[in-house]
Amino acid sequence: MTSTRTPLIAGNWKMHKTVAESESLVRDIINGDRRKDVDVLVAPPFTSLHAVARLVDTSDVGLAAQNMHWEKQGAYTGEVSPLMLADLGVEFVILGHSERRHIFGEKDEGINRKVISALAHGLKPILCVGETLEERRAEKIYGVLEAQLLGGLSGLQPDETARVTIAYEPVWAIGTGHTATPDQAQAVHRLIRRQLIDLSLCNKDLANRVRILYGGSVKASNATEIMAQPDVDGVLVGGASLSAGEFLGIINF
Ligand code: PEP
Repeated sequence: MTSTRTPLIAGNWKMHKTVAESESLVRDIINGDRRKDVDVLVAPPFTSLHAVARLVDTSDVGLAAQNMHWEKQGAYTGEVSPLMLADLGVEFVILGHSERRHIFGEKDEGINRKVISALAHGLKPILCVGETLEERRAEKIYGVLEAQLLGGLSGLQPDETARVTIAYEPVWAIGTGHTATPDQAQAVHRLIRRQLIDLSLCNKDLANRVRILYGGSVKASNATEIMAQPDVDGVLVGGASLSAGEFLGIINF
């Protein structure tokens, strides 16, 4: 079946770039030589969101935050709310990134609250899921993804589920230089689309509309073969999104 899902190339800058560096990088991406038949977004650190928002405002580059709290305001020192992100013109928000899960102890229940809150505030969640190397070796991928999908998408109506972008990011591939093979990525992406239906999270038509991104050591040199997989609808890029040349190379896969 021909996909109607527009590819999405997303750059997660993590805890990198000052405001001036962020402005310079996003200018190079906006003005870079790049194909226009894909959606592109950048996720700068919170401190650069405002500056980058002003620059992407008149461009076709989208803006994402890397995390958020589920409450719209309150006594949550150090947190950033969906209201604040929407106020800046942020369109997407990355939720449940493996670094949030594994370094900061985020659990599916809290991630689910964030997904629900993001949708309620008009933000598009990018829900990250993926197994560790131990879980892959123990052949637990199905169960791990089932728990993360059921946990993260709990309580959503099917049409809300269809508005969530899923990012499959095997933990063993993030920042390690070990990319999943195109076959490994396709197998899990296909499984996730199947699970959305089998777990009654949405019907087949809606599942076919959900964008599923691959993340894990994507570079310009491996983006083409990963993007060629029928169930891979884009990539979430960490390290390689910090250089405009490399990121443009991925966009032009
Ligand atoms: C990520 O941070 O989501 C990621 C995939 O990182 P990297 O591309 O560096 O592996």
